[in-house]
Amino acid sequence: MARRKYVVGNWKMNGLRAGLGEAEAIFAAARDHAPVDVALCPPFTLIGAMAALGGTVGGQDCHAQDAGAFTGSVAAPMLADVGASLVIVGHSERRDGFGETNDDVKAKAEAALAAGLAVILCVGESRAVRESGGAIDHVLKQVRESLPDDFERAALAIAYEPIWAIGTGLVPTIEDVAAMHGSIRAALSERIGAGAAEVRLLYGGSVTGDNAADLLGAGDVDGALVGGASLSAAKFVPIIEAAA
Ligand code: PGA
Repeated sequence: MARRKYVVGNWKMNGLRAGLGEAEAIFAAARDHAPVDVALCPPFTLIGAMAALGGTVGGQDCHAQDAGAFTGSVAAPMLADVGASLVIVGHSERRDGFGETNDDVKAKAEAALAAGLAVILCVGESRAVRESGGAIDHVLKQVRESLPDDFERAALAIAYEPIWAIGTGLVPTIEDVAAMHGSIRAALSERIGAGAAEVRLLYGGSVTGDNAADLLGAGDVDGALVGGASLSAAKFVPIIEAAA
């Protein structure tokens, strides 16, 4: 079964209701490029309004528990309740900024899947790890330890996002991206057998309309997780087009 291309925007802590016109334009472009799955992950505050526009919308994080005394947190069933159909877990800005471990990320992914959400599970190495030559080992450990014990293959995607490439304008070579994605696919095969062929692997980190075609053409790259360039239709739609 061929894997459909998947282009996901991560708005991070950006976006007010006044900016929903960008999402509307992005969803219109997504409808024109039906072979590509397109989703936007805005801040929690915009999920309901964005979902009402008719596109595919997700959260950027969720709590591992379904409810309780966790001030400031949002649970996976709450995301589903306001119209989200996916959630990003384990983004490096959560792992590094909020001390999330692989165990935490795994628990969040399992909670999200149990709530009926698709999951984008992020992994990626720091510059120091890349320069030490240990990037592949580091990322495969994250994959092995963060992956839910059991999951529906089509409901989970893995996003490889080298931390040094996020928001910096730097991107790995196409060969390095292909080598990493091939290694992740091989580790998935070891773990889940033939089902590994159904899991989509996204690349993230300074994806733009200019480099998207090359990155999306690399071996085992099934899509992109896009930060900065997803905030405006003018920048994001060319990435959707490159995936089509
Ligand atoms: P960027 O962010 O596209 O702005 O580099 C990617 C991400 O953090 O998901």
